[in-house]
Amino acid sequence: MSSNSQFTCKICNQGFEQKSRLHRHMLTSHPEPAPSIADVEKLLASIKFPKSKSEILNFINSQHIPNLKNELLNLVSSLPNRKYRDSAEIAQAIKKIKNGKKVKSSKEAESLLSPGKKGGKSAAKYSISAATLARSLSGINLPQSKENINRYLKENIFKMNKDIQSDILKIYNRLPKKKYKDMTEIEKELSKSV
Ligand SMILES: [Zn+2]
Repeated sequence: MSSNSQFTCKICNQGFEQKSRLHRHMLTSHPEPAPSIADVEKLLASIKFPKSKSEILNFINSQHIPNLKNELLNLVSSLPNRKYRDSAEIAQAIKKIKNGKKVKSSKEAESLLSPGKKGGKSAAKYSISAATLARSLSGINLPQSKENINRYLKENIFKMNKDIQSDILKIYNRLPKKKYKDMTEIEKELSKSV
């Protein structure tokens, strides 16, 4: 290590003269680890088996996990479409995916999260998945009236991808005026109205 290097990588001890160099080193030499089977098991810790793949995705969707990593969601979305008896079966399927590196892209993963055929059709119209719609309300305390839901949405819409912000607002605007007791109720209405 040269004496000029005032910034040291905590992982491999390599020294850098500039902070920006260290930053770039961290991104290229030590990228964030891909989600592990343990991460998936943690994500599904409270799910009741047996569950189909779509039920598993719906479960994740209903958890409203803040900062849910796309890679983790993609990994689960890449699971073969079938029923899983327990988390060991899921772990096994994920092991296979990891070996074959057949993880779906974000876009494919998103489209898979559309609930059922009906929801899928309407989601395709806006190309916004039920998962994305649900995520745009993450953190909201339900029950809430339509007005309050839309107010919350407007205050938090900046967290969503710019390209889809106006479509999300449009879709939520079509909610019938009433009180919504939970996310499932909102999603049901959204799939009807879009
Ligand atoms: Zn390093």
